[in-house]
Amino acid sequence: MLSFPDLRAIYHGELRASEPMDRHTWMRVGGPAEFYCEPADRNDLAVLIRYLHEQKVPFMVVGRGSNLLVSDAGIRGAVINLETCLNEVRMEQDLVVAEAGVRLTKFVDFCVQHGLAGVEMLAGIPGTVGGAVVMNAGAHGGETSDHLVYVELLRESQSVRIEKRNAGFAYRKSGVMHDVVLSAGFRLSGGDAEALGRRRKELIMKRNQTQPLELPNLGSMFKNPAGMHAAKLIEEAGLKGKRIGNIQVSEKHANFMVNLGAAKASDVLGLIALVQQTVFERSGIKLELEVKLMGFTPEEVARVS
Ligand SMILES: Cc1cc2nc3c(=O)[nH]c(=O)nc-3n(C[C@H](O)[C@H](O)[C@H](O)COP(=O)(O)OP(=O)(O)OC[C@H]3O[C@@H](n4cnc5c(N)ncnc54)[C@H](O)[C@@H]3O)c2cc1C
Repeated sequence: MLSFPDLRAIYHGELRASEPMDRHTWMRVGGPAEFYCEPADRNDLAVLIRYLHEQKVPFMVVGRGSNLLVSDAGIRGAVINLETCLNEVRMEQDLVVAEAGVRLTKFVDFCVQHGLAGVEMLAGIPGTVGGAVVMNAGAHGGETSDHLVYVELLRESQSVRIEKRNAGFAYRKSGVMHDVVLSAGFRLSGGDAEALGRRRKELIMKRNQTQPLELPNLGSMFKNPAGMHAAKLIEEAGLKGKRIGNIQVSEKHANFMVNLGAAKASDVLGLIALVQQTVFERSGIKLELEVKLMGFTPEEVARVS
């Protein structure tokens, strides 16, 4: 069990008990994390993880919670956020090296300002570099892994680098989901900073026009089935505007669900199951969740898997 006085003697970062996760998820939904930690620096992170292993406390790393649905019951064990301890982006020879806690906005800004092309399609995605690597986030035909060279992971208290071909990247997934991602190195091609800046602005404007960004949401709830759009399937099933409690299939973009105010995770799960069932009955296609579930029982997870 995690003992605060013991840990405090060796760890200097933030440590809070019973931290409401609706403060740390983009959809503003979720019960408390048993422990919530923001390590102060890299060494602090290593100390914390070693301690959690020794005490057999389960833990998970999160970014900005922009792809996370946390249960109303919350999360047992520790939730670790890396935005304070791993927040640097820099050039190392010909690579852009971005630490896992760096927000994608800052990462894209850095690349645009240095006239480096290839990641501007990530502009407007509200996550961190760590979350984007794990999810292989992408948009407009590009993915995080496209120009990635290596991922740096924390394994058995050591920093190890694995090459892209060993990181198991595929559409909205990677093989480093159960690791701690520390940083990633990208090799980008030369471009014109002004043109890249204009492109980034266009992409953000397009998001503002097509996505319900005025209400808390998790981006696309479902993966696009091969050659199809989940949003179109949901719209054709007549589900736009469908609501359970305070969670609603967006009227603006059918693959988004919006929190109309203090929505419950159980209602989000119910609406996910309803959308999957209705779309399946109409089209024979089972929509696969893109969003990651945390703190749910195996029965709840099985309902939407
Ligand atoms: C308005 C909106 C628009 C979006 N648009 C897009 C889009 O266009 N394309 C797209 O792909 N996604 C999109 N998303 C989804 C989301 O932003 C991305 O998946 C993003 O990469 C998640 O990053 P995050 O830091 O918030 O990760 P989180 O949501 O916090 O975590 C996601 C997963 O990654 C794991 N994780 C996070 N950081 C680490 C780490 N350092 N080490 C190990 N595991 C880690 C978590 O445990 C979890 O399993 C959108 C979301 C919103 C709300």
